[in-house]
Amino acid sequence: MNSSSDDLERYQTHEPENLQERYAHRAAHMKPSEIRALFAVASRPEIVSLAGGMPNLSAIPMEMMAGIVERLVREHGQEALQYGSGQGHPLLREQICDVMALEGIKANLNDVLITTGSQQALDLISRIFIDPGDVVLVEAPSYVGALGTFAQYEAGVVHVEMDQNGLIPDALRQAIKSLRYQGRKIKFLYLIPNYQNPAGVLLPADRRAEILDICRSEKVFIVEDNPYGLLGFNRPSPNAMRAEDSENVIYLGTFSKTIVPGFRIGWTLVPQSLKEKLVIASESSILCPSNFSQMAIAGYLANQPWREQIASFCSLYKVRRDAMLSALDAHFPRAATWTRPEGGFYIWVTLPPEIDTKAMVPRAIAAKVAYVPGTAFYADGFGSWSLRLSYCYPTPERITQGVMALSKVVEQEMSSRGITG
Ligand code: PMP
Repeated sequence: MNSSSDDLERYQTHEPENLQERYAHRAAHMKPSEIRALFAVASRPEIVSLAGGMPNLSAIPMEMMAGIVERLVREHGQEALQYGSGQGHPLLREQICDVMALEGIKANLNDVLITTGSQQALDLISRIFIDPGDVVLVEAPSYVGALGTFAQYEAGVVHVEMDQNGLIPDALRQAIKSLRYQGRKIKFLYLIPNYQNPAGVLLPADRRAEILDICRSEKVFIVEDNPYGLLGFNRPSPNAMRAEDSENVIYLGTFSKTIVPGFRIGWTLVPQSLKEKLVIASESSILCPSNFSQMAIAGYLANQPWREQIASFCSLYKVRRDAMLSALDAHFPRAATWTRPEGGFYIWVTLPPEIDTKAMVPRAIAAKVAYVPGTAFYADGFGSWSLRLSYCYPTPERITQGVMALSKVVEQEMSSRGITG
């Protein structure tokens, strides 16, 4: 078998684990992400990958980055290549407060903790809050990387219904009521209000206010994950939820989508009462975030027109979003529906319920297109007739080609089940 069919085989079967007896109990919950093996297949050059969420770094002037990195080592090497503070570099924490001000947040640098991407912040928050069986509320669907982290801490993940405008406040009220009735402990609500991953939807200001009220009065923390908030195509997104509530919202930010992911710099802005625990937890996992990466980002923010750079990312993604929506409108079967994002990277497609998008992956790969099946974004096996498409990375031409190929695969699936439309 060649390596690409190996990858596909692995994706379909998952290798069995044989060290079970020697692992800690919690290791049983460390499962390979449904999409990791898929990405190996999707990265083959002949495949149009509408699967990954990799930012498109063609918008970044690499010579300029090279200059920043070179100057950093030459002029500040003694500090940049040394250990740093557990909470993060004060200059960068101050600059982060300016970045967050764009979304209405008034913050003090003392409440910012720099993390190794926002993924590390998800891990730290889970470590501090989740005992086995505790409930974490999430949107339906939700970010695969967060679901994986919550699962490792043995949370009971409960999805709350969303629609074209994000999480539905009444559904949240109902979920809290029924979980409390069952005697379950709810630790926090995790949500991505801007251009959600994977659904692409935006939570409007009135719903933000309502959700803030519900969570405050029910004493449920909100973990607001905001990687895409500055990537709106038409108008700025509403104020961050953290802007309206500094006591009950734990805010996560990252430079992965607005600068580059390679430095692995994210942050969390926490209520004062939580800061010490988070810093201790972070020190025990990484001692300190990379000084080199932090100072590179700080140099970039201090010397480059970063707002203009974000605007150029937005134009690049908007062209790709338009290409994907036009191709879906022109070619996809009428029985399917999809979201129309106003920012970010993703479109969520819903097919007729008879279609199993996970079983369809090998046929899509054979047609040279990859996507992520919907079940990856649910902790409970739901989502089997949906899928996520990303438009961030391929060229508009490749996006059109990929959507056309996928349309044919979906049509064949439908006609083999006697579905019309
Ligand atoms: N949250 C969401 C919603 C994401 O989409 C991602 C990256 N795909 C992350 C967190 C993690 O980002 P990073 O660790 O690169 O900051």
